[in-house]
Amino acid sequence: MWTGRLTDARQLEVLALAIRRVLEQRSRAPWSDVRGALQEQDLLSGPAADLLDRLRHLDHDEVAAVRRRLPSGARTLLLAPADDPLRDRLADEDLMLDADLDRVVDQAGWGPLPVTSPDAIVEGVVPLGRAWMQASQVKAELTAAAGAPEAWHLVGGLRRSDPMTPDVAVLAVTDDPQAWIGRAVAALHADTIAVAGSCGLAIAADPEPVVVHAVRQDAVPTSLLWYTGPRAHVQEMRLQSAARGLALNRYSLLGADGPLALTEEADVYRHLDLPVIPVELRGRRGVIESAREGTLPELIEMHDIQGDLHMHTVYSDGRDSVAGMVHAARALGYRYVAITDHSPSAKASRVLTLDRVEQQAEEIAAVRALVPDVTILHGIECDILPDGHLDVPDDVLERLDVVLASLHDGAGHGPERLLERYLTVMRHPLVNVITHPANRSPGRTPGYVLAFARLFEYAARTGTAIEIDGAPGHLDLDAPLAEQAASIGAMLVINSDCHVAERLGRQMQFGVALARRAALTAGQVLNTRDVDGVRRFVAAKRTGRV
Ligand SMILES: [Zn+2]
Ligand SMILES: [Zn+2]
Repeated sequence: MWTGRLTDARQLEVLALAIRRVLEQRSRAPWSDVRGALQEQDLLSGPAADLLDRLRHLDHDEVAAVRRRLPSGARTLLLAPADDPLRDRLADEDLMLDADLDRVVDQAGWGPLPVTSPDAIVEGVVPLGRAWMQASQVKAELTAAAGAPEAWHLVGGLRRSDPMTPDVAVLAVTDDPQAWIGRAVAALHADTIAVAGSCGLAIAADPEPVVVHAVRQDAVPTSLLWYTGPRAHVQEMRLQSAARGLALNRYSLLGADGPLALTEEADVYRHLDLPVIPVELRGRRGVIESAREGTLPELIEMHDIQGDLHMHTVYSDGRDSVAGMVHAARALGYRYVAITDHSPSAKASRVLTLDRVEQQAEEIAAVRALVPDVTILHGIECDILPDGHLDVPDDVLERLDVVLASLHDGAGHGPERLLERYLTVMRHPLVNVITHPANRSPGRTPGYVLAFARLFEYAARTGTAIEIDGAPGHLDLDAPLAEQAASIGAMLVINSDCHVAERLGRQMQFGVALARRAALTAGQVLNTRDVDGVRRFVAAKRTGRV
């Protein structure tokens, strides 16, 4: 956790330049020369000269750790010459995202950045779920400290739903950004503020600060575009603007007679004769050309989702009752849900033992009577055993409406054995969905490496759906694999895998965002169909009509 204070521009500059010098020194001298030890908390105390001196004694890993925790704008300063002219504007510039990099470089007259610059390639470091929680917390803290802004918007990797986002950033819309930021700075504990400027501030967080931009309403259309990025997209949009005699910056789209009137982000695209490019696709190579040619797909949307086929209750490791989950689903406007608790051999903290399946069936029947407008399917999330069989006997599965199969436990198997287990289980006529197929977790494990093309071909051939799991700990399939599955002709299903009722909608949103990153359309996703469509999908496999 970053606990230092970086509100003083001079200190920040010294820190940034010092880190740059230390890094430069590394390329010329062995690290043993500068190796030393300093506690992070000590870094920012004492006069700047002292700080600079102490920074020189950090080892490479420590410097890299400090550097990583700086807002990306501060990192751009690592590229700056020591006598750069940005001194006065330093604190504000520090709130920039990577999209601003070129502009600063332009204005400072440094010439083009080398494309190989490590600062030009920002890799995601914050898992999406954590980024979302941090942004929510900061919004609440700032609302309490400075008053509620007119609106909040997520920007950066969070808005694009990057599974690992390079930044955590939000946009506050307010009449007087400077006064609002001033109130926040005055009210917040100094140690929580990493950097403050006149148009925003960064709240200390691990592993990235949460950057808060404040803008007036008239700047929202361009600011949203600007801060959502990614940088290459913003850069391309600036070129498109220039080709039409316009100039795009974060506060406006300038024509010959001044700023154009814009009311929403879509207006920026309209002025460039483009359809709105969905945020989830903005990082794709060639997306602007596709947009210009009119070949962007009609992406699936949250309102296309009719139901959720994967969730847990108190019968296994969920927190809420069947009724609790069904009421949450009803509030989201779903027409159906499947209750799918963990089977007996799952390594979950609690599992559904076979003697309780009947009891659960009775409870579901009771809730059906209470909530008649949501169809409740009784399902299960079955573990795939090391031999490819399920841990629940067929006579139990037959009585259920839908069966999910999960390879939670790789059992140390290599790619061939893992694939064989999947193929074996997909031959089973009662298995309808393969959940979180790669068993990955962003920021923790990349998941299984196996011949996914064969898995998807077999899913298509056997009438088995492949899941996009929106739980933050899964986000699996990832977008490239989901796109491959769809192109092979496998049916996708987007589920929340939710264990807590109030997260049902959010986790589905993450799943839908992943599907949009994979350029999926509603027709490629099973749970955009009504419940009869789902029942027909299940029945087709059971009766061998696939
Ligand atoms: Zn699972
Ligand atoms: Zn699950």
